[in-house]
Amino acid sequence: MPAPSYTPARSAPATDDAAGGGTARSHETDVVIIGAGPAGLFAVFELGMLKLSCHVIDALPEVGGQCTALYPEKPIYDIPGFPRIDAGQLVEALEAQARPFQPTYHLAETVAALDDHRDGDGRLTVTTDRGTRITARAVVIAAGGGAFGPNRPPLPGIQDYEKTSVFYAIRRREDFRGKRVVIAGGGDSAVDWALALADVAAHVMVVHRRPRFRAAPESAAQLQALAETGRIELVIPYQLAGLTGAGGRLRGVSVRTLEGHERLLEADVLLPFFGLSSDLGAIAGWGLATERNLIRTDPASGATSRAGVYAIGDVAQYPGKLKLILCGFSEAAMTAHAIWSLIHPDQALHFEYSTTQGLPGGE
Ligand code: FAD
Repeated sequence: MPAPSYTPARSAPATDDAAGGGTARSHETDVVIIGAGPAGLFAVFELGMLKLSCHVIDALPEVGGQCTALYPEKPIYDIPGFPRIDAGQLVEALEAQARPFQPTYHLAETVAALDDHRDGDGRLTVTTDRGTRITARAVVIAAGGGAFGPNRPPLPGIQDYEKTSVFYAIRRREDFRGKRVVIAGGGDSAVDWALALADVAAHVMVVHRRPRFRAAPESAAQLQALAETGRIELVIPYQLAGLTGAGGRLRGVSVRTLEGHERLLEADVLLPFFGLSSDLGAIAGWGLATERNLIRTDPASGATSRAGVYAIGDVAQYPGKLKLILCGFSEAAMTAHAIWSLIHPDQALHFEYSTTQGLPGGE
C-alpha cells in the first residue's frame, strides 16, 4: 500500500501553557480526534464539511487503525457501495476523502492527558506522550479498542524474536514467501492467514489446543481441505511451549499437549494470533462513564459523560451498538453535527447534502 501523504504537524511557537518550559509544541484547533482508524478518518471529513478544523493523534505510525495494523490485505464485504474492498484500500480512500480538509496528523504519539483549559472557557487541552499539546473546542475519542496490542503468549524470551521472527500482524504476504511458518491460534485470524499463506510459505503449521476451530465455518472447512491435501499441517491438540534460535532468528517452536507430549516444529517464523488486549490507557482515567472498558455515549450525539468530549467507533458503547466500520461512519456524522451545535450555540445549522455543498476548492 503506498504511504498516504500527510499534512505534517505544524509547530506553533511554544506558549506559556506549553509543558516543559517552552520546548513542547502547542496547537489550537476546533476538534482533536484521538485515533486515526476508519471512524476517526471519516470524522475529519464530516467535521470538515461543517468547516471545523481537526488535529488527529494516533499511537500508530500510520493512519487506518485496525484496518492498517491488522488486516490491510483482507477484503471487507460490508462497506456500503463496495461489494468488496481490501482494508488497506479503504483506508487510502478515507485518507483521500479527508485530505481536502487539511487535517494535521500527529502519528506515533499516544494521548496522555485531557485537561480543561485553564481559562475555564469550555475548551480542552490534550497532551501526548511526546509533549504535543492541542487545545480545542471538542475532543472526539475514536480510539477503537484503545492503544491496542496483541496478546503475547507467555514464552520465555519471546521479545527477543519480535519483529524479526515473531509477528502479531501480517502486513505483506510476500514477506513470508519460502518461509516455514507456525501459526498459533484457533480463531478467524489464525485460520484466514493460514489459508492466505498456504501457497506462499514453504510450509504452514497451525498449532491449536483443540480439534475445532472458532473461525467462520467456511474458512474452517477450507483449512481442513488444505490439511487433507498436505498443503497445511494441523498441529492439534497442542499449545506453544518454547522457542529455539539465536540472535532474533527462530529455528524452532516447541509445542506440548496437555498430557506433556512434546514436539519441536522446525520454523523460521511464528505468528501468534491470540487476539488483542484492549486498553484505554490514560483515557480510562479521564472520568468518563464506561462499560466493559468502552465509553458510554448518547447515540444521538456521541456525547460522553464529560462536556465537550465525544466518542465514536468501536470505543463507543450504547444500547444496540454494533462494532462495525459502517456504524462508526454514521456516528462520525452525528457527532460532527453535535459538535457544530456545541461550538455555535446560538445558531441553527443549515443542513446541506454533500452534493449541494461540494468540497473546498470546488473539487
Ligand atoms: P480502530 O480501527 O481500532 O482505530 C483506533 C485507533 O486509535 C488506532 O489506530 C489506535 O492506535 C488509536 N488509539 C487508541 N488509543 C490511543 C491513544 N491513547 N493515543 C493515540 N492513539 C490511540 N469491521 C467491519 O465493519 N467489517 C469487517 O469485515 C471487519 N473485518 C475485520 C477483520 C479483522 C481481522 C478485524 C481485527 C476487525 C474487523 N472489523 C471489521 C472491525 C473493524 O476493523 C473495526 O470496527 C474498526 O477498525 C473500528 O474503527 P475505529 O476507527 O473505531 O477504531
